[in-house]
Amino acid sequence: MPKVLVTGGAGYIGSHTCVELLNAGYEVVVMDNLCNSKAGVLDRIETITGKKPAFIEGDVRDYDAVKRALCGVDGVIHFAGLKAVGESVKKPLLYYDNNLGSTITLLQAMEEMGVNAIVFSSSATVYGDPATVPVKEDFPLSCASPYAYTKYMCERILEGACVANENLSALLLRYFNPIGAHESGIIGEDPNGIPNNLLPYIAKVAVGQLPKLTIFGDDYPTRDGTGVRDYIHVVDLAKGHVLAMDYALTHKGAEAINLGTGSGSSVLEVFHAFERACGRELPYMIGPRREGDVPEYFAETTKAKELLGWVAEKDIDDMCADTWRWQKGNPNGYEE
Ligand code: NAD
Ligand code: UDP
Repeated sequence: MPKVLVTGGAGYIGSHTCVELLNAGYEVVVMDNLCNSKAGVLDRIETITGKKPAFIEGDVRDYDAVKRALCGVDGVIHFAGLKAVGESVKKPLLYYDNNLGSTITLLQAMEEMGVNAIVFSSSATVYGDPATVPVKEDFPLSCASPYAYTKYMCERILEGACVANENLSALLLRYFNPIGAHESGIIGEDPNGIPNNLLPYIAKVAVGQLPKLTIFGDDYPTRDGTGVRDYIHVVDLAKGHVLAMDYALTHKGAEAINLGTGSGSSVLEVFHAFERACGRELPYMIGPRREGDVPEYFAETTKAKELLGWVAEKDIDDMCADTWRWQKGNPNGYEE
């Protein structure tokens, strides 16, 4: 079976993707500098799959280390990157250095080592505030933060590399809102500090570590006034990466592909789904809108279905039940 280098494979989406790659029979090498993750996740991947990925602790901006990591590798899934939108506004150079630097170094090392398939973690944030929904891959792109610009620029770098090297294949996967955890409850999302994102925040309220959820605005032009997003179960997303790797290994050129469910849920709908998952009412209050939030977006998913044969299978209740199982069993995440 082909061997895949997973950069950022100790992180949230990367660890779930390692599980699905190993289950599909791929050989997996993880490279991660652990700046936002813990090495203990690799043992947990082994608990789930019976196989432990090879692990290289290192930075993807380190050309020589990446070259060594690419020995015998057929394709790369590139998750490594910094992802906090607010932090990127305060520390833009850190974000440009890390996210662009790692992608350029990786592509240079891949060229040197003759590795011609890459799957890249992009984001629906490259669409900015779309004029209409559902959002299609050919919609105009616009960026509202340094983080979004790093995703936009990496996409252009990968496209340019595919023009220059006709053997190269690059899939630019634009994720909508990944949430949930592995159904075993053994791996999940473990954010540092107070979470910014909705689901980890609700989970911390449910486990008693935060007093209540503040809903950022209930006066949007949506069905209940709260913001609408396309939440996608992280295991569905991980399975999409396995299919994307299969595709990248057998095709040439660059393709941008949305990974979402194709329908949106409001903040209140997600909140009530989480209450069902944990079996009790949870406290919340309505607060002001959060700056920069758009009212509503969800994905057009036809391209993922046509090119990859991928559709999301899990619904909001699955996402909340799996998040709750993980959070309840691991109130302090990966810390023992
Ligand atoms: P994460 O922070 O859990 O995982 C990223 C991993 O990359 C971490 O383990 C971190 O230690 C590692 N890393 C960062 N910079 C590195 C470097 N220079 N060298 C080696 N390792 C490095 O994040 P995630 O949620 O799993 O996201 C994975 C990717 O998907 C990121 O590129 C992110 O921007 C993108 N993405 C995430 C979301 C989301 O909501 N989680 C949405 C859209 C896109
Ligand atoms: N949200 C909220 N309270 C929170 C965090 C998020 O009401 O504490 C809302 C937010 O306004 C948006 C939705 O939940 O409508 C999803 O936010 P998240 O930060 O998870 O994702 P993104 O804004 O990046 O789509």
